[in-house]
Amino acid sequence: MIASERPRAIIAVDLDYFYAQCEEVRNPSIKSKPVVVCVYSGRTQESGAVSTCNYIARDLGVRSGMPIALAKRILRDNLTAVFLPMDMEYYQTVSERIMGLISSKGEKFEQASIDEAYLDVTTKQDANFRIAEEIGKAIKAEILSEEKMTCTVGVGQNKLMAKMAVDSKKPDGFTIILPGLERSFLNRLPVGKLFGIGPKTEEKLKAMGIVTARDLASADRETLSDHFGKKLGPTLRDIANGVDESPVVEKPIEQLSRIITLKSDANSFDFHDVLTPMSEYLSKKLFSSKMMCKTVGIILITSELKIKTRSKSFSPTTQSGDQILKVASELFYSFFEEQSKSPQGPISVRRVGIKVSDLVATSTSKKTETLEDYI
Ligand SMILES: [Mg+2]
Repeated sequence: MIASERPRAIIAVDLDYFYAQCEEVRNPSIKSKPVVVCVYSGRTQESGAVSTCNYIARDLGVRSGMPIALAKRILRDNLTAVFLPMDMEYYQTVSERIMGLISSKGEKFEQASIDEAYLDVTTKQDANFRIAEEIGKAIKAEILSEEKMTCTVGVGQNKLMAKMAVDSKKPDGFTIILPGLERSFLNRLPVGKLFGIGPKTEEKLKAMGIVTARDLASADRETLSDHFGKKLGPTLRDIANGVDESPVVEKPIEQLSRIITLKSDANSFDFHDVLTPMSEYLSKKLFSSKMMCKTVGIILITSELKIKTRSKSFSPTTQSGDQILKVASELFYSFFEEQSKSPQGPISVRRVGIKVSDLVATSTSKKTETLEDYI
């Protein structure tokens, strides 16, 4: 990519301790307690790992990835500690709303994960990033007022520096690294603190006598290439120099899905009513993403937490909620028909969902069609 005359202005947004903060928003009374969101592996109340925890739990020594049993031991004297199972469905909806809010503030938006995004706000920027600063602060303020949630925002002239700005002050942070100040910001950091450099690379660099970002920024190019290859070697040096040309690009959506927990487990297709809002939701999402789907699928999660899926492709593509509903209903109907004939008897289903996939952009699909066309 050719460097533009004007530095780019990139904003990185990272929602603080996201899953645990979602739980605090849903139930503010736990905000003053250690909150630990867990991925239970099923066998016992203790088996599984910590997914995310709030800062109160972190200050007491709990970490992501830690076995639940260990987290419980650490917090055993803390009678207020709250352990909760992951509720991905809920986190996903909160994330979708916030991502919508962030993407509306700039022209180029890239969602990096459920709780991280980049926004390119280069247009009309001055060298002091004043506009980027305003936009970044507006994003923080709106996420707080609309969703009662804190986030950390970083601004830099590329994604790397915006991310480094975020990582330098969390939670509820706001950091700007002005163009030209990259090196002085990075220099003193140990190489392991640089975004993209993991423990293995850090070890290797240390063995070469490269300890700080300053060492790496001026390390011999050939030596780096010899040790890390022609691609990674120069990239490592670029990282230490704060150089990153990668653009902010919207990742194409490959599929959309919606899944809900039934009020009571079902062993026949008696939940038609829950499918209508799901189909409508997916139809609206397709419309706002300017997409049409070629395939509709169903997802069933049994009472034993086994996942079953079925899908059907058709032509032409669609965006219609009625058609998504029609295809999904047929699939659910034949699934339960099939099950009722199975020698093991009908299975019991706890959660059901609809997925639309094989997405194509509306602009390239030759024709928009209706339910009538499909029949
Ligand atoms: Mg986060």
